[in-house]
Amino acid sequence: MIERLCVFGVGLIGGSLAKDLRSRGLVTHIIGCSRQRAHLERARELGIIDSYEQDPARAVKGADMVVLAVPLGAMAEVMRAMRSGLDEHAVMTDVGSAKRSVLAALESVFGEVPGSFVPAHPIAGTEHSGVEAAVDGLFQGKRVILTPVARTRTEATGRVRAMWQAVGAEVLEMDPSHHDEVLAATSHLPHMLAYTLVDMLGTMEERVEMFRYAAGGFRDFTRIASSDPQMWHDICVANRDALVNALDHFQADLGAAVEAIRAGDGKTIKELFTRAKRLRDRYARESDVG
Ligand code: NAP
Repeated sequence: MIERLCVFGVGLIGGSLAKDLRSRGLVTHIIGCSRQRAHLERARELGIIDSYEQDPARAVKGADMVVLAVPLGAMAEVMRAMRSGLDEHAVMTDVGSAKRSVLAALESVFGEVPGSFVPAHPIAGTEHSGVEAAVDGLFQGKRVILTPVARTRTEATGRVRAMWQAVGAEVLEMDPSHHDEVLAATSHLPHMLAYTLVDMLGTMEERVEMFRYAAGGFRDFTRIASSDPQMWHDICVANRDALVNALDHFQADLGAAVEAIRAGDGKTIKELFTRAKRLRDRYARESDVG
Protein backbone atom coordinates (compact mmCIF):
# COMPACT_ATOMS: atom_id res chain seq x y z
CA MET A 1 0.00 0.00 0.00
CA ILE A 2 1.26 3.46 -0.90
CA GLU A 3 0.36 6.23 1.56
CA ARG A 4 1.38 9.25 -0.51
CA LEU A 5 2.26 8.89 -4.18
CA CYS A 6 3.92 11.80 -5.95
CA VAL A 7 3.70 11.65 -9.76
CA PHE A 8 5.83 13.99 -11.85
CA GLY A 9 4.15 14.34 -15.25
CA VAL A 10 0.49 13.32 -15.08
CA GLY A 11 0.32 12.35 -18.77
CA LEU A 12 -0.31 9.08 -20.59
CA ILE A 13 1.98 6.91 -18.44
CA GLY A 14 1.95 8.75 -15.10
CA GLY A 15 -1.81 9.36 -15.32
CA SER A 16 -2.61 5.76 -16.29
CA LEU A 17 -0.51 4.40 -13.42
CA ALA A 18 -2.19 6.78 -10.94
CA LYS A 19 -5.65 5.76 -12.24
CA ASP A 20 -4.95 2.05 -11.85
CA LEU A 21 -3.42 2.36 -8.39
CA ARG A 22 -6.42 4.36 -7.23
CA SER A 23 -9.08 2.14 -8.79
CA ARG A 24 -7.51 -0.87 -7.06
CA GLY A 25 -7.45 0.91 -3.70
CA LEU A 26 -3.65 0.76 -3.48
CA VAL A 27 -2.94 4.38 -2.65
CA THR A 28 -4.27 6.83 -0.07
CA HIS A 29 -3.28 10.19 -1.60
CA ILE A 30 -1.93 11.08 -5.06
CA ILE A 31 -0.17 14.39 -5.62
CA GLY A 32 0.72 15.52 -9.14
CA CYS A 33 3.51 17.85 -10.20
CA SER A 34 4.35 19.31 -13.63
CA ARG A 35 4.89 22.66 -15.32
CA GLN A 36 1.40 23.61 -16.43
CA ARG A 37 -1.25 24.32 -13.83
CA ALA A 38 -4.04 23.74 -16.39
CA HIS A 39 -2.85 20.13 -16.92
CA LEU A 40 -2.76 19.48 -13.17
CA GLU A 41 -6.16 21.10 -12.68
CA ARG A 42 -7.57 18.83 -15.40
CA ALA A 43 -5.98 15.77 -13.77
CA ARG A 44 -7.71 16.69 -10.50
CA GLU A 45 -11.05 17.26 -12.25
CA LEU A 46 -10.74 13.81 -13.83
CA GLY A 47 -10.09 12.31 -10.36
CA ILE A 48 -6.63 11.06 -11.35
CA ILE A 49 -4.87 13.04 -8.60
CA ASP A 50 -6.11 14.34 -5.25
CA SER A 51 -3.97 17.47 -5.18
CA TYR A 52 -1.12 19.15 -7.00
CA GLU A 53 1.90 21.21 -6.28
CA GLN A 54 4.11 22.97 -8.80
CA ASP A 55 7.18 23.25 -6.60
CA PRO A 56 8.92 19.83 -6.93
CA ALA A 57 10.57 19.95 -3.48
CA ARG A 58 7.19 20.65 -1.85
CA ALA A 59 5.47 18.01 -3.99
CA VAL A 60 7.67 15.16 -2.69
CA LYS A 61 7.37 16.14 1.01
CA GLY A 62 6.03 13.13 2.92
CA ALA A 63 5.73 10.96 -0.21
CA ASP A 64 6.64 7.29 0.27
CA MET A 65 6.63 6.65 -3.50
CA VAL A 66 7.85 9.10 -6.16
CA VAL A 67 7.32 8.33 -9.86
CA LEU A 68 9.08 10.36 -12.54
CA ALA A 69 6.88 10.16 -15.65
CA VAL A 70 8.29 13.16 -17.54
CA PRO A 71 10.13 13.10 -20.90
CA LEU A 72 13.72 11.82 -20.65
CA GLY A 73 15.16 15.28 -21.30
CA ALA A 74 13.39 16.62 -18.18
CA MET A 75 14.51 13.89 -15.75
CA ALA A 76 17.67 15.61 -14.42
CA GLU A 77 15.90 18.96 -13.99
CA VAL A 78 13.08 17.32 -11.99
CA MET A 79 15.52 15.27 -9.87
CA ARG A 80 17.51 18.41 -9.02
CA ALA A 81 14.40 20.41 -8.16
CA MET A 82 12.80 17.75 -5.92
CA ARG A 83 15.95 16.62 -4.12
CA SER A 84 15.79 18.89 -1.07
CA GLY A 85 12.21 17.84 -0.22
CA LEU A 86 12.67 14.06 -0.37
CA ASP A 87 11.66 12.01 2.63
CA GLU A 88 14.44 9.65 3.70
CA HIS A 89 12.08 6.66 3.43
CA ALA A 90 10.83 7.56 -0.05
CA VAL A 91 11.29 5.04 -2.84
CA MET A 92 11.82 6.64 -6.25
CA THR A 93 11.33 5.27 -9.71
CA ASP A 94 10.84 6.46 -13.29
CA VAL A 95 9.14 5.21 -16.46
CA GLY A 96 11.64 6.50 -19.05
CA SER A 97 12.04 4.66 -22.35
CA ALA A 98 15.86 4.54 -22.11
CA LYS A 99 17.70 3.63 -18.91
CA ARG A 100 21.38 4.58 -19.13
CA SER A 101 20.50 8.26 -19.50
CA VAL A 102 18.34 8.10 -16.34
CA LEU A 103 21.27 6.58 -14.42
CA ALA A 104 23.56 9.33 -15.77
CA ALA A 105 21.05 11.98 -14.66
CA LEU A 106 20.94 10.43 -11.15
CA GLU A 107 24.73 10.44 -10.93
CA SER A 108 24.92 14.07 -12.05
CA VAL A 109 22.30 15.21 -9.52
CA PHE A 110 22.95 12.96 -6.50
CA GLY A 111 26.65 12.19 -7.05
CA GLU A 112 25.76 8.48 -7.30
CA VAL A 113 22.68 6.42 -8.08
CA PRO A 114 20.62 6.51 -4.85
CA GLY A 115 19.89 3.06 -3.39
CA SER A 116 16.26 4.09 -3.12
CA PHE A 117 15.85 4.72 -6.87
CA VAL A 118 14.66 1.82 -9.03
CA PRO A 119 14.82 2.61 -12.77
CA ALA A 120 11.84 1.13 -14.63
CA HIS A 121 10.28 1.07 -18.09
CA PRO A 122 6.72 -0.09 -18.75
CA ILE A 123 6.50 -1.61 -22.23
CA ALA A 124 3.05 -0.19 -22.79
CA GLY A 125 1.68 2.97 -24.32
CA THR A 126 -0.14 4.55 -27.21
CA GLU A 127 0.64 7.30 -29.70
CA HIS A 128 -1.44 9.74 -27.60
CA SER A 129 -0.10 11.93 -24.84
CA GLY A 130 -1.18 14.23 -22.04
CA VAL A 131 -3.59 13.70 -19.17
CA GLU A 132 -6.59 13.12 -21.46
CA ALA A 133 -4.74 10.11 -22.89
CA ALA A 134 -4.51 8.37 -19.50
CA VAL A 135 -6.52 5.14 -19.55
CA ASP A 136 -7.52 2.36 -17.16
CA GLY A 137 -5.81 -0.99 -17.53
CA LEU A 138 -2.94 0.23 -19.75
CA PHE A 139 -0.45 -2.07 -18.00
CA GLN A 140 -2.64 -5.16 -17.68
CA GLY A 141 -0.72 -8.12 -19.14
CA LYS A 142 2.14 -5.84 -20.26
CA ARG A 143 5.78 -6.12 -19.28
CA VAL A 144 7.67 -3.70 -17.08
CA ILE A 145 11.47 -3.86 -17.13
CA LEU A 146 13.35 -2.86 -13.98
CA THR A 147 17.05 -2.06 -14.37
CA PRO A 148 18.37 -1.91 -10.78
CA VAL A 149 22.11 -1.42 -10.30
CA ALA A 150 24.41 -2.85 -7.61
CA ARG A 151 23.58 0.02 -5.21
CA THR A 152 19.80 -0.35 -5.56
CA ARG A 153 18.24 -1.50 -2.27
CA THR A 154 16.46 -4.85 -2.54
CA GLU A 155 13.58 -3.50 -0.49
CA ALA A 156 13.13 -0.56 -2.91
CA THR A 157 13.15 -2.91 -5.91
CA GLY A 158 10.57 -5.06 -4.12
CA ARG A 159 8.25 -2.10 -3.59
CA VAL A 160 8.45 -0.94 -7.20
CA ARG A 161 7.99 -4.52 -8.42
CA ALA A 162 4.89 -4.89 -6.20
CA MET A 163 3.45 -1.59 -7.50
CA TRP A 164 3.65 -2.72 -11.12
CA GLN A 165 2.44 -6.23 -10.39
CA ALA A 166 -0.56 -4.72 -8.58
CA VAL A 167 -1.65 -2.99 -11.82
CA GLY A 168 -1.42 -6.25 -13.76
CA ALA A 169 2.08 -6.07 -15.24
CA GLU A 170 4.64 -8.82 -15.57
CA VAL A 171 7.88 -7.47 -14.08
CA LEU A 172 11.34 -8.44 -15.34
CA GLU A 173 14.84 -7.26 -14.50
CA MET A 174 17.51 -6.40 -17.05
CA ASP A 175 20.93 -4.83 -17.24
CA PRO A 176 20.47 -1.12 -18.23
CA SER A 177 22.73 -1.31 -21.31
CA HIS A 178 21.04 -4.48 -22.50
CA HIS A 179 17.66 -2.77 -22.02
CA ASP A 180 18.78 0.17 -24.17
CA GLU A 181 20.08 -2.10 -26.97
CA VAL A 182 16.94 -4.22 -27.04
CA LEU A 183 14.57 -1.24 -26.98
CA ALA A 184 16.62 0.61 -29.62
CA ALA A 185 15.91 -2.28 -32.00
CA THR A 186 12.32 -3.11 -31.08
CA SER A 187 10.88 0.33 -30.34
CA HIS A 188 13.15 3.26 -31.16
CA LEU A 189 14.13 1.97 -34.64
CA PRO A 190 10.48 1.36 -35.72
CA HIS A 191 9.58 4.90 -34.61
CA MET A 192 12.45 6.28 -36.71
CA LEU A 193 11.26 4.29 -39.73
CA ALA A 194 7.64 5.45 -39.33
CA TYR A 195 8.56 9.12 -38.87
CA THR A 196 11.01 9.03 -41.80
CA LEU A 197 8.59 7.27 -44.15
CA VAL A 198 5.75 9.71 -43.45
CA ASP A 199 8.14 12.65 -43.82
CA MET A 200 9.39 11.30 -47.16
CA LEU A 201 5.84 10.88 -48.46
CA GLY A 202 5.14 14.40 -47.25
CA THR A 203 7.81 15.79 -49.55
CA MET A 204 6.45 13.68 -52.44
CA GLU A 205 2.93 14.92 -51.61
CA GLU A 206 3.79 18.23 -53.27
CA ARG A 207 4.07 16.41 -56.61
CA VAL A 208 1.49 13.63 -56.25
CA GLU A 209 -1.44 13.37 -53.82
CA MET A 210 0.32 10.56 -51.94
CA PHE A 211 -1.82 10.21 -48.86
CA ARG A 212 -5.07 9.99 -50.86
CA TYR A 213 -3.95 6.59 -52.15
CA ALA A 214 -2.50 5.24 -48.90
CA ALA A 215 -4.30 2.13 -47.61
CA GLY A 216 -4.59 0.08 -44.41
CA GLY A 217 -1.00 -1.15 -44.46
CA PHE A 218 0.29 2.41 -44.48
CA ARG A 219 -2.03 3.29 -41.62
CA ASP A 220 -0.87 0.31 -39.52
CA PHE A 221 2.80 0.89 -40.22
CA THR A 222 2.76 4.61 -39.54
CA ARG A 223 0.43 4.86 -36.48
CA ILE A 224 3.42 5.50 -34.23
CA ALA A 225 4.47 8.55 -36.29
CA SER A 226 1.59 10.33 -34.50
CA SER A 227 3.55 10.05 -31.22
CA ASP A 228 4.76 13.15 -29.40
CA PRO A 229 7.80 14.68 -31.21
CA GLN A 230 9.34 16.03 -27.99
CA MET A 231 9.23 12.64 -26.30
CA TRP A 232 10.80 10.92 -29.31
CA HIS A 233 13.41 13.63 -29.70
CA ASP A 234 14.42 12.96 -26.09
CA ILE A 235 14.53 9.18 -26.62
CA CYS A 236 16.71 9.47 -29.76
CA VAL A 237 19.14 11.77 -27.98
CA ALA A 238 19.18 9.71 -24.77
CA ASN A 239 19.73 6.37 -26.53
CA ARG A 240 21.71 7.58 -29.51
CA ASP A 241 24.56 5.03 -29.43
CA ALA A 242 22.27 2.00 -29.35
CA LEU A 243 19.85 3.61 -31.83
CA VAL A 244 22.61 4.41 -34.33
CA ASN A 245 23.82 0.78 -34.11
CA ALA A 246 20.30 -0.47 -34.81
CA LEU A 247 19.89 2.00 -37.70
CA ASP A 248 23.25 0.97 -39.21
CA HIS A 249 22.23 -2.68 -39.00
CA PHE A 250 18.87 -1.93 -40.61
CA GLN A 251 20.48 0.20 -43.33
CA ALA A 252 22.86 -2.65 -44.20
CA ASP A 253 19.99 -5.17 -44.43
CA LEU A 254 17.87 -2.74 -46.44
CA GLY A 255 20.84 -2.12 -48.74
CA ALA A 256 21.16 -5.88 -49.36
CA ALA A 257 17.42 -6.08 -50.12
CA VAL A 258 17.71 -3.14 -52.56
CA GLU A 259 20.56 -4.94 -54.36
CA ALA A 260 18.51 -8.14 -54.59
CA ILE A 261 15.58 -6.21 -56.08
CA ARG A 262 17.88 -4.35 -58.49
CA ALA A 263 19.33 -7.67 -59.64
CA GLY A 264 15.88 -9.24 -60.00
CA ASP A 265 16.96 -11.83 -57.43
CA GLY A 266 13.50 -13.13 -56.54
CA LYS A 267 14.85 -16.06 -54.53
CA THR A 268 16.60 -13.79 -52.00
CA ILE A 269 13.60 -11.51 -51.71
CA LYS A 270 11.19 -14.40 -51.22
CA GLU A 271 13.44 -15.97 -48.57
CA LEU A 272 13.55 -12.64 -46.71
CA PHE A 273 9.74 -12.31 -46.79
CA THR A 274 9.26 -15.95 -45.74
CA ARG A 275 11.63 -15.64 -42.77
CA ALA A 276 10.04 -12.36 -41.69
CA LYS A 277 6.47 -13.65 -42.07
CA ARG A 278 7.28 -16.71 -39.95
CA LEU A 279 8.73 -14.52 -37.19
CA ARG A 280 5.89 -11.95 -37.30
CA ASP A 281 3.23 -14.70 -37.22
CA ARG A 282 4.92 -16.31 -34.22
CA TYR A 283 5.22 -12.96 -32.43
CA ALA A 284 1.53 -12.20 -33.14
CA ARG A 285 0.44 -15.61 -31.80
CA GLU A 286 2.55 -15.39 -28.67
CA SER A 287 1.79 -11.75 -27.83
CA ASP A 288 -1.85 -11.91 -28.90
CA VAL A 289 -1.63 -8.95 -31.30
CA GLY A 290 -3.15 -8.74 -34.77
P1 NAP B 1 3.06 12.70 -21.75
O1 NAP B 1 1.72 12.08 -21.90
O2 NAP B 1 3.43 13.84 -22.65
O3 NAP B 1 3.23 13.16 -20.23
C1 NAP B 1 4.41 13.78 -19.79
C2 NAP B 1 4.04 14.81 -18.76
O4 NAP B 1 5.26 15.35 -18.26
C3 NAP B 1 3.22 15.94 -19.30
O5 NAP B 1 1.92 15.84 -18.77
C4 NAP B 1 3.94 17.23 -18.87
O6 NAP B 1 3.05 18.07 -18.15
C5 NAP B 1 5.05 16.72 -17.94
N1 NAP B 1 6.33 17.40 -18.17
C6 NAP B 1 6.97 17.60 -19.33
N2 NAP B 1 8.13 18.25 -19.12
C7 NAP B 1 8.20 18.48 -17.78
C8 NAP B 1 9.15 19.12 -16.96
N3 NAP B 1 10.25 19.69 -17.47
N4 NAP B 1 8.90 19.17 -15.61
C9 NAP B 1 7.80 18.60 -15.10
N5 NAP B 1 6.85 17.99 -15.84
C10 NAP B 1 7.07 17.94 -17.18
O7 NAP B 1 4.22 11.61 -21.93
P2 NAP B 1 4.19 10.05 -21.66
O8 NAP B 1 3.90 9.35 -22.94
O9 NAP B 1 3.38 9.75 -20.46
O10 NAP B 1 5.76 9.81 -21.39
C11 NAP B 1 6.31 10.04 -20.12
C12 NAP B 1 7.54 9.16 -19.94
O11 NAP B 1 7.15 7.80 -20.16
C13 NAP B 1 8.67 9.45 -20.91
O12 NAP B 1 9.90 9.41 -20.22
C14 NAP B 1 8.62 8.30 -21.91
O13 NAP B 1 9.91 7.97 -22.39
C15 NAP B 1 8.04 7.17 -21.07
N6 NAP B 1 7.26 6.15 -21.79
C16 NAP B 1 6.36 6.52 -22.73
C17 NAP B 1 5.62 5.53 -23.39
C18 NAP B 1 4.60 5.89 -24.46
O14 NAP B 1 4.18 5.02 -25.22
N7 NAP B 1 4.16 7.13 -24.54
C19 NAP B 1 5.79 4.18 -23.04
C20 NAP B 1 6.70 3.85 -22.03
C21 NAP B 1 7.43 4.85 -21.41
P3 NAP B 1 3.22 19.67 -18.22
O15 NAP B 1 3.08 20.03 -19.65
O16 NAP B 1 2.12 20.19 -17.34
O17 NAP B 1 4.57 19.96 -17.65
